[in-house]
Amino acid sequence: MSRPVRVRFAPSPTGYLHVGGARTFLFNWLFARHHGGAMILRVEDTDTARSTREFEEMQKQDMAWLGLPWDEGPGLGLETPSVGSFGPYRQSERMSIYAEHAQVLLNKGHAYYCFCTDAELEEKKKLALASGRPPHYDGKCRAISPQDAQKRLAQGEKGAVRFWIKNPKAYKLKDLIRGEIEFQEGMVGDFVILRTGGMPVYNFCCVIDDHLMEISHVLRAEEHLSNTVRQLMLYEAYGWTPPDFGHMSVVLGPDKQKLSKRHGATSVNDYKENGYLKEAINNYIALLGWSSPDHREILPLNEMVALFGTDRINSAPAVFDGVKLKWMNSQYLRAMDELELWKMIEPILKKHGLDFSTSSEAWIKSAVAAFKTSMETLVDCVPLFHPLSDSGFSVGEEAAPVLGWPTTKRVIEVWISELKKGNPQSALTEEEFTQLQKDIQLECQVKGKEFFQALRVAIVGKPHGTELKLLIPLLFRESLINRAQKVLSKMS
Ligand code: GLU
Repeated sequence: MSRPVRVRFAPSPTGYLHVGGARTFLFNWLFARHHGGAMILRVEDTDTARSTREFEEMQKQDMAWLGLPWDEGPGLGLETPSVGSFGPYRQSERMSIYAEHAQVLLNKGHAYYCFCTDAELEEKKKLALASGRPPHYDGKCRAISPQDAQKRLAQGEKGAVRFWIKNPKAYKLKDLIRGEIEFQEGMVGDFVILRTGGMPVYNFCCVIDDHLMEISHVLRAEEHLSNTVRQLMLYEAYGWTPPDFGHMSVVLGPDKQKLSKRHGATSVNDYKENGYLKEAINNYIALLGWSSPDHREILPLNEMVALFGTDRINSAPAVFDGVKLKWMNSQYLRAMDELELWKMIEPILKKHGLDFSTSSEAWIKSAVAAFKTSMETLVDCVPLFHPLSDSGFSVGEEAAPVLGWPTTKRVIEVWISELKKGNPQSALTEEEFTQLQKDIQLECQVKGKEFFQALRVAIVGKPHGTELKLLIPLLFRESLINRAQKVLSKMS
């Protein structure tokens, strides 16, 4: 690298952090870490109508949840000051910097005041389109001398500042992802850099900030390509070296349309709430356009850092596949240590009224080990652990026919008396349970559906559900007796 690596993620705080934004952030973060460079967070909040500090905070919370800390930029928390010596990092706090830099272009004759009204501009556009010309500004206000412009402003007239394309030509870009890109001459006309009223526009702020923040590489979405040509013109006018650019392909939904809310959950927060692990999200998102040299799919963050490079970012669109993400999540869940996983699922169980606070560590380990392979997301723990919770036990509607069978009572009574033969604070092993079932069948002379469904109702309150051999080693005899007695009392 010819200069220190400094990359940035520059979200507009107008909503949650969505999958596309998270990918931009992650790729920049991986690039920074791979090269030992700095990751900068810059908040592009000049769209005052749509930007809020709350959205900024929500995005930062999601970024922090992903476990990808940034080195410079606004801190986490509404009141936390920014970190870094290239601030302010919110564009809304950089207005004087933009005004100063617009003045530089005005002074150099690379920009001029434009007094055309919106109605006039609209009319010009229509005429141009009607006569088959591109709808570019016709340059009318170029003719106003700086002195005249100042006079008009002093008299209270309002004007925008427009960039003056003095030397129309084609621009070439060596894109890190897409290779050589040529922007034909005449793609854009003189464009506004400060709106009437002084508000700077994205293309302008972006160049000023990227330059002053010494950004070395810009990895961003493909949709910004058409902005890049304007940005190259600005760099040239200032005599600055532009950063290296890499434009990432769009993320599509399974129907090959641009990923959007229609496709279901698209924000990082949705996935967090729906029980996804950050490790799975990072891993899956990284594969939206990037691949490891050995095509491995399960890649922890540190390995991605070691392997990441723009050379393996694909320029073809990536397709977001929620099924694959879920699969990946299940792989990460499976690989987790039982007690670590318990820390994540216990609060979810509590929220659903399932309290296991008196359970021993050994019990927790066995229970999590029994169920983690059936979990695709963290929230899947609720139906899985429900049958283990005494407080969650109830006799369901579906049990009614079973309760009506003449053999059921006897099966449950023998089941209770057998359970009473052992230590109430012990559980049956799978083998003991198998043997016991045989014994009860013999003693009651009941088998098949009449036997198994009766036993199931006695244990979980309904005739169907989780495999009993998974549950039994996790339920103490005392708890099984209490449940069975509840069922009996329901029958009398
Ligand atoms: N604020 C822009 C966006 O959210 C950033 C564009 C850029 O990275 O230059 O799309």
